[in-house]
Amino acid sequence: MASVMCLECGTTIQLGEWYEDVESKKIAELQSTITAQVDIIKLLKEDAEMLADYLIAEWHGKDGFTFECQVCEAGFFETKESVKHTDDCLITLHTQLMNELGEK
Ligand SMILES: [Zn+2]
Repeated sequence: MASVMCLECGTTIQLGEWYEDVESKKIAELQSTITAQVDIIKLLKEDAEMLADYLIAEWHGKDGFTFECQVCEAGFFETKESVKHTDDCLITLHTQLMNELGEK
C-alpha cells in the first residue's frame, strides 16, 4: 500500500486502495497515450518513406537508368538505393530523426 509523508510534520500516512486505483488508472491512461503516439510515429515514418521514395526520379539515358533526388539534386546514381543526399536534404533530416527515435 502506498504511503505519503507530510512535509510539515513528517508524519507518514497510509493511502487507501482508492489511491492505488487512481494511480492504476493514470498509468493505464499514460500507457494508452504512449501506444497511440507510437502508432502515429509508425504512420509518419511510413508516409515519409513513401514520399522519399517518390522523390527519387528515374532518368533514362543512352547508358541506361540513373536516379536522382528531386529534393537536393545531389547527383545521379546507378540505383535508387545508392542515391546520396546532401546534409540539409529533407530526406537526410528525416533519416536522422528516425535514428533519434531508435527506428531505422
Ligand atoms: Zn536528397
